[in-house]
Amino acid sequence: MGVEKVVPSMTDLMVFLAILAKSATGQKLSVYTTLVRGPRRAGELEGPDEFHLVLLDNGRIDQLAGPLREALYCLRCGACLNVCPVYRQIGGHAYGHTYPGPIGILLTAMLNGPGSVKELAHASSLCGACAEACPVRIDIPRMLIELRREVDERKIAPWTERVVFGAFARLLARPGLYRLVARIARLLQRPFVRDGALRRLPLVFGDWTRTRDLPAVAPRTFQERWKELEREVTP
Ligand code: SF4
Repeated sequence: MGVEKVVPSMTDLMVFLAILAKSATGQKLSVYTTLVRGPRRAGELEGPDEFHLVLLDNGRIDQLAGPLREALYCLRCGACLNVCPVYRQIGGHAYGHTYPGPIGILLTAMLNGPGSVKELAHASSLCGACAEACPVRIDIPRMLIELRREVDERKIAPWTERVVFGAFARLLARPGLYRLVARIARLLQRPFVRDGALRRLPLVFGDWTRTRDLPAVAPRTFQERWKELEREVTP
């Protein structure tokens, strides 16, 4: 078992068993709980001669000093998966690793390095449903943001993605420029819009639209509609 599963006493174990089953399926106790207490003792008729428990570290202890350490609290109850709007749509197999869902992204990053989840780190809407459902209060959205920062700072993401998101961040910080670019984009997008979405973009953007819809710039932006409303209500 992983070293993070060690608890100090049977009393602590009872707390974890109770919250594990309740958070996973709403049961009082999981139906497959097995207590193995070591080798057969003197006078006992049943039990093994020897008992070996292998505690796996596999990089977990190093994580105690890292930004993802909270993920080691995970009981694997699955409550965060049940409430995750992304996981509920695409299911577990789409994540490609042993542990799926929002907590799975963090666990995989811890065990296999952030490069293994460079795309998955962005596969969360950061809605916070997982953190609310988690019985041990793991702040998954905060750590997903940390992970995204690490993927960016260590230049793990492809350069095209870094350039596009860097430019977008600068654009979002300048409202005047943002409005101007939205107007230009509305004109340039015309050949690519179908049913309100950009279906096939050229050049490096084609990778994005090959498997996903990208919402088109609206005919009128929120700010333009707001200005019109202001004019209507102002006497
Ligand atoms: S992160 Fe929390 S809710 Fe998700 S599996 Fe782990 S303990 Fe359960």
